[in-house]
Amino acid sequence: MDDLKTLDSRYIASTYSRFDLQADSGKNAVCTSLDGRTYIDFTSGIGVNSLGWCDADWVKAVQHQASTLQHISNLYYTSPMIELAQALCTRTGMDKVFFCNSGAEANECMIKTARKYSSDRYGKGRHTILALENSFHGRTVTTLSATGQDVFHQYFDPFTDGFSFFRANDIASLTDRLDDTVCGILIELIQGEGGVVPLEKDFVHAIAKVCREKDILLLVDEVQTGVGRTGKFLCCEHYGISPDLVSLAKGLGGGLPIGAVLFGEKCADVLGPGDHGATYGGNPVACAGAQVVLSKLDGRLLQEVEQKGQYITQRVQSMPKVKSVEGKGLMLGITVDGDSKALAAACLQKGLMILTAKAKLRMLPPLTISYEEIDRGLTILNEVLSV
Ligand SMILES: *Cc1c(COP(=O)(O)O)cnc(C)c1O
Repeated sequence: MDDLKTLDSRYIASTYSRFDLQADSGKNAVCTSLDGRTYIDFTSGIGVNSLGWCDADWVKAVQHQASTLQHISNLYYTSPMIELAQALCTRTGMDKVFFCNSGAEANECMIKTARKYSSDRYGKGRHTILALENSFHGRTVTTLSATGQDVFHQYFDPFTDGFSFFRANDIASLTDRLDDTVCGILIELIQGEGGVVPLEKDFVHAIAKVCREKDILLLVDEVQTGVGRTGKFLCCEHYGISPDLVSLAKGLGGGLPIGAVLFGEKCADVLGPGDHGATYGGNPVACAGAQVVLSKLDGRLLQEVEQKGQYITQRVQSMPKVKSVEGKGLMLGITVDGDSKALAAACLQKGLMILTAKAKLRMLPPLTISYEEIDRGLTILNEVLSV
């Protein structure tokens, strides 16, 4: 019989270059492959499996919802999405929620909202969104247009108009780009795909100040940093800012596709009936999973995320070939002396799943990873870096 690799290359569009692991099952931060090997997981499905694999409460809630009411359209009321929205607003102080299915969709919704807010108040032409160089906001044509990396700007012309870019941690480059057409500023607080690059506090405060003064909406893409990843429910809390719009996705569903936009008071009612929608948005099963993620992310778990992050950072800093460790909580980038892709592949060979971001090794372990699992993973990383 053909193995998965052969069938994959025959039937799946070739958009991914995959690591050599054929996954079968998982439990918290341990994956078992089809050939029976086990792997420690420092990836959580790229920041998705917040509670690791197959958390018992998450499985129970998802199974229960799937066997009760798996879907109905947004033409009707359902409680999982409403309860989840209420929980999200209570946790974040935001006003309202729009549900979709992915990070790119959530960012699209933020962009539409910023443009409509501005057009409602100021009329046509005030439509520019400023975004950061080296950002990543998604793969749709418009979120690619908002992505400040040239590698993503090939082949798919024409891109959506009305985006302009400024440099991270450089206030002058922001003031340079500001003009009367700007309606929104879109940022990741820690650039994820760009290489785990945290923004400086002063810089973020300067952006927030400009937004307040000029009635420009502040859009924070927390698709990767949100839902406890950095040790706070939102990474915004580390910076002490209250954005007008926040996008969430990856870690929110604990492994089921869901995206969300949180609206602050200023723009809570900008989108009206017919202005936006998503067939699967607020799907009951995905929302039931997300409710469990939120209910488990209490102060204790968040504190553990912070502590585990510090523990990993400390241990990794003393490993060979390591120049520095950046990031917060369980979103960490390691600057290494060597080819990150080759090092990640070598880790996998020895039983550790780890990610890369540009030239760095990147860790996004499940928030529930145990110290024993961390130690097993770090032992492998140390071995690989010692070669
Ligand atoms: C992953 C990611 C996205 C895109 O999310 P999808 O669910 O793949 O559409 C957008 N922004 C950031 C910061 C991300 O990390």
